[in-house]
Amino acid sequence: MNPHYDVIIVGAGLAGASAALWLSHRFRVLIVEADEPAAGASGAGAGLINPLLGQRARPVWRVDDALEIVEETIERADASDLFDDRGLIRPALDEEQARRFEAAADDHPALAVWFPADRMQAEFPDVSARHGALRIVRGGAIDITRFVGRMIKTAASAGAEARFGTAVTGWTSSASLVEVSLSVENDVDVITARHLVLATGDGFLGFPALRRLALHRIKGQTIRIRRPSGIAMPCAIPPISGSGYIVPEVATWVLGSTYEHRFTSTTPTLDADRAIIDKTSAMIPSIRDAEILDRRAGVRVTVPRLRLPMVGPVDGERVWTINGLGSKGLLLAPFIAKSLCGWIADPTLVPPELGVRESE
Ligand SMILES: Cc1cc2nc3c(=O)[nH]c(=O)nc-3n(C[C@H](O)[C@H](O)[C@H](O)COP(=O)(O)OP(=O)(O)OC[C@H]3O[C@@H](n4cnc5c(N)ncnc54)[C@H](O)[C@@H]3O)c2cc1C
Repeated sequence: MNPHYDVIIVGAGLAGASAALWLSHRFRVLIVEADEPAAGASGAGAGLINPLLGQRARPVWRVDDALEIVEETIERADASDLFDDRGLIRPALDEEQARRFEAAADDHPALAVWFPADRMQAEFPDVSARHGALRIVRGGAIDITRFVGRMIKTAASAGAEARFGTAVTGWTSSASLVEVSLSVENDVDVITARHLVLATGDGFLGFPALRRLALHRIKGQTIRIRRPSGIAMPCAIPPISGSGYIVPEVATWVLGSTYEHRFTSTTPTLDADRAIIDKTSAMIPSIRDAEILDRRAGVRVTVPRLRLPMVGPVDGERVWTINGLGSKGLLLAPFIAKSLCGWIADPTLVPPELGVRESE
């Protein structure tokens, strides 16, 4: 029997949309989304592309390839207009972090420069950085929801099909194909493919084959505010990642983020608003008086300890997952998606540190 598609991708977030973009050039692809594109964590994301993460500003896994591929993916998706590629500022929180950031700039001169407090004051007077800041010169920020939309559009122009508002409810896999069940208007539709890629983010809870994996859920929230008063237009400040995130767009800014390891609801809260305002106004004081226009919450799925995504077959060789992107969705989803063309043909090529793991 000839299957309907080569690959069915479940989920139109960063992982699924990137996979659709890269796979559609070689395969007959269908992307199925239960809601609308970027309805999950991707729609809540602040959009930072930050190559030097964490308290010590350590480079992301395979940072050079990751940066190159996200830039290539943005170009392929015709999304350069959405990308603020001015890099980032990471204000140091104290003197100890200042020393670590200075060391990071020495270790990675192609990625960052150390700005002492007086240079920060001269170049970015609106940003409070009394311990100095790491000026990251690669990366920046992109509107994730619109980027996901552009990737899907590009995939569609290469022949991919999309079904939104349609949930995948299960599958049966055999040696030659996968039969995938879709819930359509109180009925079930069954379609077939050579491969199924589950890029479901937090939707992993809906499938026993994914629930047994070592995945951890962290709720986060971002808010959108009106541009704070006193900040000139066009805004000279690049995106900031310090105590919280600040992504200055034109008329509005996106601020983030919270990290909740225990939660009972995935909806946004006013407590999270307050936590975000407290953190970010320490970096730009006029944020405290800005009007909050909107809030989004989502669940980042992470792989405990390794903090790297999880990619590989989860049921025979035909059913794959891409999950656990944590806070690195923008840098690592395009990298994984581009590599997936080769990995699907030969699963032994998946780097072992990304391999599928069951929870202990
Ligand atoms: C508050 C917050 C801020 C963040 N900031 C950043 C940032 O600045 N930079 C960065 O790189 N990353 C950031 N992240 C992380 C980033 O958003 C995630 O790494 C990324 O969005 C994960 O993408 P995904 O495609 O795996 O999951 P998701 O975006 O959650 O997509 C999964 C999709 O699958 C769909 N789905 C689930 N189950 C089914 C089913 N059964 N059938 C059909 N469809 C289904 C869902 O509706 C959803 O649209 C942030 C995350 C949060 C929560």
